[in-house]
Amino acid sequence: MTTPHRALPSVDRLASVPRIRALIESYSREAVLGLVREQLAESRKEIDRGGGAPGVDALAAAIEGRAGAVWRSWPSALINATGVVLHTNLGRAPLSAAATEAARRAAGGYGDLEFDLETGGRGSRQEHVSRLLCQITGAESALAVNNNASAVLLGLAALTAGKEVIVSKGEVVEIGGGFRIPDVLRQSGATLVEVGTTNRAYVRDYEEAMSANTGAILAVHASNFRVIGFAHSPSLAELVELGGRFGLPVMHDVGSGCLLETSVFGLAHEPTPQESLRDGVELVFFSGDKLLGGPQSGIVAGSREAVETVSRHPYARAARIDKLSMAALAATLLHYVRGEAVEEVPVWRMIALGAEALEGRARRCGLAVGERASVVETLSTIGGGSLPGETLPSWAVSIDSTGIEGGARMLSSRLRSGDPPVVGRIEDERVVLDLRTVPPDQDGALARAAVEAIETVSTPS
Ligand SMILES: *Cc1c(COP(=O)(O)O)cnc(C)c1O
Repeated sequence: MTTPHRALPSVDRLASVPRIRALIESYSREAVLGLVREQLAESRKEIDRGGGAPGVDALAAAIEGRAGAVWRSWPSALINATGVVLHTNLGRAPLSAAATEAARRAAGGYGDLEFDLETGGRGSRQEHVSRLLCQITGAESALAVNNNASAVLLGLAALTAGKEVIVSKGEVVEIGGGFRIPDVLRQSGATLVEVGTTNRAYVRDYEEAMSANTGAILAVHASNFRVIGFAHSPSLAELVELGGRFGLPVMHDVGSGCLLETSVFGLAHEPTPQESLRDGVELVFFSGDKLLGGPQSGIVAGSREAVETVSRHPYARAARIDKLSMAALAATLLHYVRGEAVEEVPVWRMIALGAEALEGRARRCGLAVGERASVVETLSTIGGGSLPGETLPSWAVSIDSTGIEGGARMLSSRLRSGDPPVVGRIEDERVVLDLRTVPPDQDGALARAAVEAIETVSTPS
């Protein structure tokens, strides 16, 4: 015999239970009754599947659980112990103290965002940041938008709609999160003309593809993969020379917005916007929250005329950057102007950390975690679709899950549900916590969270 739906309490009955009344006090009656109805609908489905009807207490607890999950303050701050510096799922680049403060200031009050304090007239939200970007990259002009995907789309739409854009086959790439060069080109109104082969393209391939309707050459940095072996692509300077002969601009999607020389830190050289501009590209596009280390944003930089054309395009308003990000971007760029990016911008501070300093921290942390912990050498990565395959030698606390029910996955899950949540890596039934991406002042919190997680797992003997 199946349980009838009417075995469930009514909405009114549930609303009168003390625990639900307390929820109504903290939130609002309508909002809480919405959750009550959601829960009852789910219980009816459960009954239809052959389950029993939960009692009033169980329902109230489930509704409380829903409220706690849906109405918690979000996002939760957590400790990134993955060793992935630009972790896309964990918010990419954390901001510097100055950039965080600038965003807070812009958020909580009025500011001279589009206002000229001297004349009392209207100003431009772009002017301040544009000047900093020009000083740093050597561009004549620059425009900040909400992300690099927008920057590329906007640049193409403004300069090449209705025209052909020549791209090397090896650079017709997918960056992730739905950003595919052929799709972006189509949306911009331009036509993609692929040249060369997957692994090799020469200047003459580009030259042979030139037609009366060519609008530009687009070069795309293959940010998230690397072709090794029998590969060739023309240099940007060669493409610019070719473009010049045909009176056509070269645009470069350089990706990560890396403004410093990565080889200094033992990494492969990551192309910089400065280099693209020095090579003579008309426009370069890059992200603000990858290796630049700022807020989510995208930059269009290049010749005054091209940037002006881009900023007048109707999409420019649709891709407009918000004031919080603009404030944080300005503060981040100022670190580069002051030559203090390695000390102040968190992603660079983490990249620059030496293995010796990390070893000492890992040893202290490991001791505090206790006997399940050992200290191991490991490799951190850059992440965020930048510098694929490149690693930085690092040190980690490695926690043994032997004898724990559910093993390393269970331990990892307990770490994620702790306070603060900790995200690590699982390697060979051990949970590995890489210190590179942990701010040093959180080493103590990390060790305490690990001790608590170990205490809550069950170890059947
Ligand atoms: C990351 C990346 C993008 C997308 O940038 P977002 O700022 O994430 O929109 C586009 N092109 C390249 C080459 C990239 O590396």
